[in-house]
Formats: sequence, structure tokens, C-alpha cells
Amino acid sequence: MAEIERPLPRFPEPDTQAFWEATKGHTLRYQVCNQCGGLVFFPRRHCTHCTSVDLRWESSKGEGTLYTYTIIRQNGHPYFRAKLPYVIAYVDLDEGFRMMTELVGIDDLSQLDCGKRVHLDWEEHEEVNLPVFRLAE
Ligand SMILES: [Zn+2]
Repeated sequence: MAEIERPLPRFPEPDTQAFWEATKGHTLRYQVCNQCGGLVFFPRRHCTHCTSVDLRWESSKGEGTLYTYTIIRQNGHPYFRAKLPYVIAYVDLDEGFRMMTELVGIDDLSQLDCGKRVHLDWEEHEEVNLPVFRLAE
């Protein structure tokens, strides 16, 4: 029986293509509005603060703080069911944007606490890499 694969983005994906391209080189990109200076994440065609389409790409250093998390203990999808339990989190990146991600490498779920420092890591795939986070030492 074939191994069940993780669902991944399908391309072409006009609004997020540049984001996913950058993941191949382990770069986490976000957008900054050239009109109002607002940070935009996840990637979009327009600024979520002022609706301008004049956005530029910046690269995150991948350091941040755990804003909140949840421990997933049930999932109907076979790929995710095999990972149970796993941790989905909101991370506040030091550059000022917040992203939903997976926290990996958690040996003891009682280690988790809001406010802890986390850093970027990558889950490797053939066409894209997925940004995940680990607790900082
Ligand atoms: Zn703006």
C-alpha cells in the first residue's frame, strides 16, 4: 500500500507562488506595503491595512515567540491521523507578523507555554518546503 502523503499546495497559485518558491531555499517571506508600511501575512495580492496592491517581499530571520497553540488529538485525514498528537500554533515573528504553523520536535507537551521563544525549521518536500517551528533551547 502506498504511503499516504501530506496535502501540499497546488500550482499555479497566483497570490502565494513567490512565497512557495522562496521556501525551496529555506527563506520565509512576508510582504510589506509600500504605501502604508503595514505587514501582510499570509501572502496576498493587496495590503490588508489599506488595500494597496503596492507590496514588496521581505525575508524573516525566523525567530519569534509562541503566541498560542493547540494540541491536535483527532484528525480524520489519514496523513494527519498518523501524526497524532501534534501541535498547531500561532507564532509572532520578530519582524512583526503572526503566522499559523506547526510546532515540531516537542518531546514533552508540558514544555509548551505561551511566550516561549521559537525558531524556524523546515519540513522538506519535493516541490516546496513547509515552514515549521521548534522551541528555542
Ligand atoms: Zn497598506
